Amino acid sequence: MTEQERSIIVKVRVEPGERVRLKERDPRDSSLFRDEKETKAATSALAKDIDVLQDRLYAEGSRALLVILQGTDTSGKDGTIRNVFNATGPLGVSVTPFGVPTKTELAHDYLWRIHAACPRRGTIGIFNRSHYEGVLVEKVRKLSPLALIEQRYDQINAFEKHLTENGTTILKFMLHISKDEQKERLQERLDDPRKHWKFNPGDLDDRVHWDEYQDAYETMLQRCSTHHAPWHVIPADRKWVRNAAVATIVKATLEDMDPQYPKAQWEPGDFTIS
Ligand code: AMP
Ligand code: MG
Repeated sequence: MTEQERSIIVKVRVEPGERVRLKERDPRDSSLFRDEKETKAATSALAKDIDVLQDRLYAEGSRALLVILQGTDTSGKDGTIRNVFNATGPLGVSVTPFGVPTKTELAHDYLWRIHAACPRRGTIGIFNRSHYEGVLVEKVRKLSPLALIEQRYDQINAFEKHLTENGTTILKFMLHISKDEQKERLQERLDDPRKHWKFNPGDLDDRVHWDEYQDAYETMLQRCSTHHAPWHVIPADRKWVRNAAVATIVKATLEDMDPQYPKAQWEPGDFTIS
């Protein structure tokens, strides 16, 4: 890991138990990187590095990486996936979006659908939203009793520990955008016919609850950033900063995992191809 990579990680990572005040973290912050053009080129290079590392992870076949993306509507979860994993071979990556639970999903506990979607060994799994909706939308919208939600922080930490102890490395990113930036992005969805499909009137209802969501995010960050599954708060008003920060951390983490091509059970001289 380079010094620059380390300093980026230190800046955005939430230490276990740390009280995060989102108001004090600038969503427009671009101090992590110097120059937009140079950073975009570096991000493309990182995406290629991620592909090479993913190939090794796949060949090794014994561990997995789970990338969890959370953030309010328009925070750029889809765009992050598109940019950070655009060079990764589709064979070894799965993307799972989590929407309003179906009837079947509601007939089980909230982690049931999550566990079923966790990446198999050798692959990278990306969650667009996740079990954390259980302490975000369900809390703000009062979809579950508060006493049940209160228990979930510890349950989630235990679940994630279980996953890491069984070979899955976990990275969690909260894409932090400002209320003004969300307004602009929602307006674009209304104005641009190519973005109309992305507009969901329900997003406006969620926007009314902006402050409550920010509170719920702060509690989630404080209670569920652990050594085994750390949260990162990514300044996300500028897409190039967001992409570069996530790509940097994913690449550094895969490098740390250092997956190895397995040694063949034969010697190169053992076979001749006629
Ligand atoms: P999108 O990410 O725009 O496709 O929207 C997915 C929607 O599903 C969001 O409005 C989420 O709040 C909602 N959602 C995800 N998980 C849950 C959950 N556990 N309970 C209720 N709503 C959820
Ligand atoms: Mg949406």
